[in-house]
Amino acid sequence: MIKMIAKRITLLLLIVLPSLMVVAQSASQITFDKPVEKLLKKMTLEEKVGQMTQINLGVFGKSRRKRKEANVFELDTVKLRKAILEYKVGSILNYADNKPFSPKEWNSIIGLIQKIASENKLNIPLIYGVDAIRGQNYGTGATMYPVPINQGASWNRELVSKLGEISAYETRACGIPWAFSPVLGVGRDPRWPRLFETFGEDVYLVSEMGVGTIKAYEGDDISNPTKVASCMKHFLGYSVPASGKDRTPAYIPERQLREYFLPSFKKAVDAGAHTVMINSAEVNGIPVHANYNLLTNLLKKELGFEGFAVSDWEDIIYLYSRHHVAASEKEATKIAINAGVDMSMVPVKFTFVNYLIELVNEGEVSMERIDDAVRRILKVKMELGLFKESLTYIEDYPEYGSEASAQLNRQLSEESVTLLKNEDNILPLKKDSKVLLVGPTANSMRALLGGWSYSWSGDIANEKGAEFNTIVEAVEAKIGKENATFIPGVQFTGRRYYQEELPENDFVAIKEKAKEVDYILLCLGENSYVETSGNLTDLAISENQQRLAQLASETGKPVILIMAEGRPRVISAFEEKMNAVLMGYLPGVYGGDAIADILFGDVNPSGKLPITYPKRPNSYTTYDHKYTEGKSGNSSLYKTKWDVQWPFGYGMSYSTFEYSNLKLDKKELGENEVLTISVDVTNTSDRKGKEVVQLFISDLYASITPSVKRLRGFEKISLDAGETKTVTFSVRPRDIAFVNQQNKWMAEKGQFKVLIYQLKENFSLKNSIVFEE
Ligand code: BGC
Repeated sequence: MIKMIAKRITLLLLIVLPSLMVVAQSASQITFDKPVEKLLKKMTLEEKVGQMTQINLGVFGKSRRKRKEANVFELDTVKLRKAILEYKVGSILNYADNKPFSPKEWNSIIGLIQKIASENKLNIPLIYGVDAIRGQNYGTGATMYPVPINQGASWNRELVSKLGEISAYETRACGIPWAFSPVLGVGRDPRWPRLFETFGEDVYLVSEMGVGTIKAYEGDDISNPTKVASCMKHFLGYSVPASGKDRTPAYIPERQLREYFLPSFKKAVDAGAHTVMINSAEVNGIPVHANYNLLTNLLKKELGFEGFAVSDWEDIIYLYSRHHVAASEKEATKIAINAGVDMSMVPVKFTFVNYLIELVNEGEVSMERIDDAVRRILKVKMELGLFKESLTYIEDYPEYGSEASAQLNRQLSEESVTLLKNEDNILPLKKDSKVLLVGPTANSMRALLGGWSYSWSGDIANEKGAEFNTIVEAVEAKIGKENATFIPGVQFTGRRYYQEELPENDFVAIKEKAKEVDYILLCLGENSYVETSGNLTDLAISENQQRLAQLASETGKPVILIMAEGRPRVISAFEEKMNAVLMGYLPGVYGGDAIADILFGDVNPSGKLPITYPKRPNSYTTYDHKYTEGKSGNSSLYKTKWDVQWPFGYGMSYSTFEYSNLKLDKKELGENEVLTISVDVTNTSDRKGKEVVQLFISDLYASITPSVKRLRGFEKISLDAGETKTVTFSVRPRDIAFVNQQNKWMAEKGQFKVLIYQLKENFSLKNSIVFEE
């Protein structure tokens, strides 16, 4: 009997204790996990701080002089052993020598790192992280697919997810369990050089693509050796610097922050994203790495994020050296760790380790904060299964760089390229046409790929991507070399970073050759760049390229403009003179082929703009602007006009689609009800085509000035010639809510308008609802 009671008490304690322990934790700290706690107890302060330290791979390279062959990256085991065994470093990142490694090389690099880690007293594996933002872009032969702006332009959730799965598989095949992706920021400033890393300007589109990508990377269980831990980037408010330049201040009121910038992160946290990287810049005067309110109160407490937060590159040091909010590196370390940074991407020296140990010993950083950070990091390492098996071998990944993956890659290029203008249905061109290709992006893989391809800035893409077709090569393959002539006219200089152009050349030759051809394919845009190297002072396309466009139009031949660019460079100076326009964004290794297929009708275009294409240099308003930013009231005194080159969501097809039968199943929506909206879409042409059906809703009058419309749903469908499909959307009150004056999500009673293509229908919301979340 006594035995039985004792057993019951033990059982009771077992049930109750863990929950008490959870309650005892402050809300910002994560829940206990037994194996993690056991390990944590055995760790010294030095071991804990080591776990919070991340170093760049390049630091461990043998000096070039010492390398047997200058061209091969070799690890210096002395440096590596010192880092891992003395400084107890818990993470390494990145590639080295500005070129990709083969999967075998990756396996051996990670193998050596983990072997040394296993000599550590506690045998804690390292977590290796890499910028796999569009496939494993630093692995030779990997499926490197188009960048997120193209993924957004495809509006194809399933395709983006499948490619996300491939990315996880191939990244893990290289031995890397952690991808610094996806970017969940909303690309609402076309000047920002990282716009191409976003899925677009709309928070719903970004959330759909971002969360889909996270699920594809992580699956249900990240210990599965075909999955990786994702990294939500960059928390929070990074994408709208007031100057348009990367890593410069943003000013975002809390209401806007919650309505436009936070939802994609909240949904990603809810979907279980394991890590987050912090915004390198400042928001409202506070560098985010120093912002306790954003990192601890909002991300960890309010959103309940249980993974770990890694700093961006050198950003703790930058609190001192760039932002000037700390008077020394040591103070910067204190501020950042106390704000909630769990791991420092230091990434090239070890001072962080010493400073943090001193700070704990001096009582400036608490042991609880250190334990919380380390607990989070160990938890992710355990969930990744690294303690059981920290290595993978390419031999176990037969699908790495497979033909099937290449086909999906090509499909994404095809489905993202967006037809923006097609006067008199000039496209598709006949295959017996003669064309003259001109412009700096016509024969450049670098321009098709952009940054984060083979190297950080994409500067070696011409050489490494030589096996793929540029636009010139793809057009030649399509219609025969004898029918395609290439004269650049304007060329990028090919310098390591960005945009210098040679003065225009060959203009006389272009004029002459134009006489012999049917069409001019004018290929304009940008050379590859990344981060601050892409900062601009003028969004208008360069003057050289403008002159080339002018020249092309003066030849009297029809001009097809093809843009390869990471952001919408303003082309209003000559757009009217163009007969057709194709927006490629950065269409990837198959970008040349996709463009040629669309030009000559082998592929029917189906991309739609995930951003607004601006027309004027001082007018960068997004599609979901306020009424006062468009045509306002009836008074002739108000001259505001929303005048863009092409609106968000726009894109043409060679098919024609007709929308009809817009139906709402109710006229009034109640608190717990669902509004079902349906519409028929018919392909009225004789060509099979894909159409993106977009659901916009306008809140007609509201206590916070409403946007003219907001995207609330989309579906990409394929329709045979003559086929009709019915598309259905479900809308709940929460889907039409906004952040109110008290910074709470609220759906406010009143009239709403549903807009699908040119069809409109009104409904009303019965009662106002404030959502507690
Ligand atoms: C970028 C991050 C990237 C990191 C590591 C930084 O400069 O801002 O997005 O993940 O470098 O390469």
